[in-house]
Parts: sequence; structure tokens; C-alpha cells
Amino acid sequence: MARPDFDIVVIGGGAGGLVVAAGGASLGARVALVEKHRMGGDCLWYGCVPSKTLIKSAHVANAMRHADRWALAPHDPKPDLARVMERVASVIRGIEPNDSPERFRSLGVDVVLGDGHFVAPDAFEVDGRRLTAKTFVLATGSRPAMPPIPGLAESGALTNETVFDLRENVPHLLVVGGGPIGSEMAQAFRRLGSEVTVVDVAPRILPREDTDTAGVVHRRMLEEGVRFHLMASIAKVEGARGDVRMTIRGKDGAEGVIAGTHVLVAAGRKVNIEGLGLDAAGVKVENGRIVTDARLRTTHPRVYVVGDVAGGYQFTHVAEHHAGIVLRQAIFHLFWTRPSTVVPWCTYTDPELARVGLSEDEARQQKIEHRVYRFAFDEIDRARAEGETEGFAKLVTDPKGRLLGAAIVGPHAGELIAECVLAVSKGMKAGDLSAAIHAYPTLVSINRRAADQRLKEGLTPSSKTWIKRIFGLRGV
Ligand SMILES: Cc1cc2nc3c(=O)[nH]c(=O)nc-3n(C[C@H](O)[C@H](O)[C@H](O)COP(=O)(O)OP(=O)(O)OC[C@H]3O[C@@H](n4cnc5c(N)ncnc54)[C@H](O)[C@@H]3O)c2cc1C
Repeated sequence: MARPDFDIVVIGGGAGGLVVAAGGASLGARVALVEKHRMGGDCLWYGCVPSKTLIKSAHVANAMRHADRWALAPHDPKPDLARVMERVASVIRGIEPNDSPERFRSLGVDVVLGDGHFVAPDAFEVDGRRLTAKTFVLATGSRPAMPPIPGLAESGALTNETVFDLRENVPHLLVVGGGPIGSEMAQAFRRLGSEVTVVDVAPRILPREDTDTAGVVHRRMLEEGVRFHLMASIAKVEGARGDVRMTIRGKDGAEGVIAGTHVLVAAGRKVNIEGLGLDAAGVKVENGRIVTDARLRTTHPRVYVVGDVAGGYQFTHVAEHHAGIVLRQAIFHLFWTRPSTVVPWCTYTDPELARVGLSEDEARQQKIEHRVYRFAFDEIDRARAEGETEGFAKLVTDPKGRLLGAAIVGPHAGELIAECVLAVSKGMKAGDLSAAIHAYPTLVSINRRAADQRLKEGLTPSSKTWIKRIFGLRGV
């Protein structure tokens, strides 16, 4: 059999594919990377980078409006969406060179721009060029799902792939979906001056989160004027961008019409698997998903998946983690490596909501014996100094205090969860968080204060009596 041209052929140049390609090349592998659109993927062009950039402008606008909270004169920021979106575009332009074909070619990767498909189990063809490899990595990501609602697509509904191209003002945004993307965008647009209405068939927003943590975000959004129609399905959409009407149906079957100017669809994701010729490679697809084993291998033993297309957690850090797992197998033959099950995430609303490991609701539903320790931000000195006291941290432990999970809703929760990620992934106990010194005054001390609740729990009146007796103490 002829020797393959490449050690690794990566299909898809987004978060996961780029890490496989750069990592493979740096370890001495001959790597080809196929990208059909533009390198950088969703995260750079339509996801994390533009959304977090937009959220920052929205955050500043909100702070200006409420500057009196910090004893300063409040100002109307008069947001101009075109200018804000230009800033979004300029941040993308600043990051783009890191992910560019030129950079990857300079790393030794053979970058092939074009659309291709498998023509045999060991060959992927792009515009007539046949790429053979020892290992293939599918990293084609996902795209927004468009629910089959009559009139929705015809209304010029926006998705995350088009919303950052807007240059006109958005008087009233109707957001379909109250998940993380819908909630982040709803609050950002509201703070940038739009009326915003969120419609979701679920009874509450952020359904993957605990009721109490998601409730903090929901309340804040309501206070800021975001309107919600929950437990409501959309019967039809009429009109086009500028004047859209949505007929919604409540749980009781009653119909109503809400009017807006723009629709943003954030109602789930579909994996990108069409047109790849997976049959020719012997890669099995079931229920619209690529079948994989626990180590990200498809039914073709030399074809792996990474990132969103793997169909699990859809985050950039997961795609990058997958890339490392696949590289270890493809290059070092460490076939026992598996993706970590300790996956953090954060919804970048204000307040932020970050999670890792088992949640309280999950522990209850799965009947796992557990304890919960909470601490509120309004008892953290730094939070008071910052004027950001809403929210709390909670730790979920087993009865012996071993950390199973953590959730933080509050200022900078996405940063604060990092300590809990380490603690959960290393099987540490709440006592380990209590024993670690945290710089004062920092927000992250909320983790220690939550863990201290377990120590306090052990301090019963009878144990206090014994301590007093043994050490001759005279207090009450
Ligand atoms: C609005 C929004 C906000 C988000 N915010 C966050 C966040 O804050 N934090 C976070 O961790 N995650 C966030 N995500 C998720 C994150 O963007 C994705 O999880 C991540 O981009 C997945 O990486 P990937 O490599 O799997 O796919 P992608 O980065 O999407 O890359 C896939 C690449 O494959 C290419 N491709 C597709 N089909 C083919 C084909 N047939 N041939 C060749 N190339 C192909 C695509 O053009 C693309 O470049 C967000 C997503 C959205 C939509």
C-alpha cells in the first residue's frame, strides 16, 4: 500500500481544527488543513469574540447610565449600533492574523482552502486534489438551527452568523430562544437601546442551570426591561425586517401577536456533517450525529472528531481540549486518553453565570447524596467596594466534603470558577478551599467563604461546649 501523503488531515479550521493542525505540525507531523469558508471558525467570526466584544460595549453603556451607583453623574450613552458593530469587526480583524492561512503555512501546515469530501476511507478530495492520511480529524463545527416556523426564514431572521453584520439600529428585537446565546444577546441589545422580547417554549431561561442561579440572571434582565414570553410556542412569523409580527401560543393554547423590527434566532445548533462523503469513509451517522466512542474515534478507526461536530458540550475550550486528546492518540498512540468530564462553562450575561461539575438540581434529580454550601456576594468586601453585590457561589460536595461541582452567579463568575475547576478535577475537598490563602480583597475569596460554611456546619453547640471544656475557655 502506498504511503499516505500526510500524517494528519484536518477538516475544518476553527477552534478545534486549528489546535490539531498547529499542535501536530509543532510535534513534527505532516499536516494538511482543509477549510471551506474562512479560518477561525465560529468562535472568531460569529461566536465568542464578537459576542463578548458586543457585551463589553453594552456593559459600559449600562454603567454610564447608572453611574450614580458609583457617585458619578449618569449619562445617556446614546448607543449607535453601527459604531459598536464596527468595534466588533475591528476586534475580529485584530485576532484574525493568528488564525490566518499565512500563519498556519508558516507553521508548516499545508492549508487547503476549498470544499471537499471523502472519496475512500483513506482519501479526502478537495477540488480534484486527493489528500491521503494516516489520521483524519473532522472539526467542521456547527451552525444555527432554524426552527421550521412558517414565515420565520422569510422574515429575514438574524442568527449569530448575521447579527454582527448589522449596521442599522434595532428598535425592537424579538429573540427566539432563552438559552445562553439568546440571553447574552437579549441583555446586550437591551443595554444598547433596543426594546427586547424573548420567546421560549421552556418554562424558564437558561434551562441547563439550576433554578436559583438562572433566576438571578432572569431577574436582572427583567429589571433592565427585557420582556419574556416563556412556555410559548411560535405559530407563525409575518412581515420582514423592519416590521415583523410573531404569533405566539401560550401553554393554555391562547394566541397573541407580538410586534418587533428584527428577529434573532438562537434556538439550538446543528452539526456540520453534510457533503463530507462520510459514507465513503465508513463513518456512521445516527440521528444526525456522527457515532463516536469515548475517545472521539468514529466508526472508522482512523477518523476522529473534535469540537462542536462531536455533538457534546459546544464550547471553544472543549474543542481545544478534544484537539489535545486526539493529538495524543494520533501522534503518541496513547489510546487510553479520554476527554475530561469536568467541563466548566460560563454564560456572559451580567451577572455572569459559571458552572463546573455536578449541579444541585442534577444531584437531586439523580438522587446523589450531597451537601450544598452557599455564600452571597453581598458579604464579600470587594463586591461591596465594586458595587456588584448581586449573586452567590455554591459548592456541591459529597457527604465527606469532596467537591462534586460548583456554580457562581455574580461579577466575574467566569474567572472565579477557575479555582473550582481545579478543585473538582483534582477531587479536592471543601476544606482544601478553606485552607488556601486568598488575597484580600478579591472576589475569588467567595469560594473560600462558601467552603468555610462546611467548617461552620461542624461547629455544633455540643462541640463548642467540649472545646471550651478541654481548652479552658470562658466565652458564652
Ligand atoms: C453566539 C455564540 C457565542 C459563543 N460564545 C462562546 C463563548 O463565550 N465561549 C465558548 O467557549 N464558546 C462559545 N461559543 C461556542 C464556540 O464558538 C464553539 O464551541 C467553537 O467555535 C467550536 O469550535 P469547532 O472547532 O468545533 O468549530 P468552529 O470553530 O465553528 O470551526 C468549524 C470550521 O469548519 C469549517 N467547515 C465546516 N464545514 C466544512 C467542510 N465541509 N469542509 C471544510 N471546512 C468546513 C467552518 O467553516 C469552520 O471554519 C459561542 C457560539 C456562538 C454561536
